[in-house]
Amino acid sequence: IAKHEGRNRFHYFAPYMQEATRVRMELIGELRETVARNELRILFQPIVDLQTGKICKAEALVRWEHPERGLLNPAEFISIAESSGMIVEIGDWVFQQTARELQRLRQAGHQDFQIGVNKSAWQFRENGSNYQSWLELLRELEVPAENIIIEVTENLLLDSTYQVAQRLAAFQQAHMQISLDDFGTGYCSVAFLKRFNVDYIKLDRTLITDISHERSGHALWEAIIVMAHKLDIKVIAEGIETPEQLAILQQAGCDLGQGYLFSRPISGTELEEKLKNG
Ligand code: C2E
Ligand code: MG
Ligand code: MG
Ligand code: MG
Repeated sequence: IAKHEGRNRFHYFAPYMQEATRVRMELIGELRETVARNELRILFQPIVDLQTGKICKAEALVRWEHPERGLLNPAEFISIAESSGMIVEIGDWVFQQTARELQRLRQAGHQDFQIGVNKSAWQFRENGSNYQSWLELLRELEVPAENIIIEVTENLLLDSTYQVAQRLAAFQQAHMQISLDDFGTGYCSVAFLKRFNVDYIKLDRTLITDISHERSGHALWEAIIVMAHKLDIKVIAEGIETPEQLAILQQAGCDLGQGYLFSRPISGTELEEKLKNG
């Protein structure tokens, strides 16, 4: 449409674009101070074993408590953090908080509890991750690397350079586990699952949202579950919101689930409470 409107299009887009650019520039500047100013928050969303109903894992999700704009979701600042390089510092912070939470949970008797941390493609580039210092922190806190799950998206494996493969292998050699996030939305080939030896697949929320008792739409994710199990990969369904979705996923043999039906993302203290109360 913009093309046909020729020069006039600038009258239409300019004010909006200027505002968006201004906000973006402001956020980039402010983002540099978030860690120092203690404005980042970490939430944990429980992941439930669909057979037993017990919480056995969680996913770490970052928030930015902006002094004027309120609590910001990752969608509002992660891409800015990536393009400005701040994602390295934020990623370190998220990892540290996760490791400390695991230490507290282990001290409370949850030795096998695992927490997933999201890693964007950017964090796999040169200097994009301080993973040696992460290993040191885990040793210091006496948290085994097995308790950490690294969540990466299919796209990361797709534009996979030698570097990505090497870094993923390094995490695996340290005994961290690998989870393939947002599965079913991209173009990941089955060959990648085998090649990168992933431990978990996370079925994207958009696939789960479509689940209903109409069986026609089920073919895709039912096939994914069967295939995953043949490759010795466990399946986590994201974004389970209704008992109906849960029942269908349980029937299809899905291993684990995450979603508002069980819990929204919560604080570490709340997670500890939930686990204490069984
Ligand atoms: P993701 O890794 O796919 O995380 C799941 C997202 O789905 C989370 O959004 C979670 O709050 C949301 N969710 C979970 N259950 C439900 C549900 O039942 N219904 C609905 N509508 N949503 C649900 P959130 O926290 O806004 O995070 C969005 C994305 O931001 C994440 O998607 C992840 O890709 C990225 N992200 C979050 N934390 C980090 C981080 O520390 N580092 C990096 N690099 N990316 C992060
Ligand atoms: Mg994730
Ligand atoms: Mg996901
Ligand atoms: Mg998703």
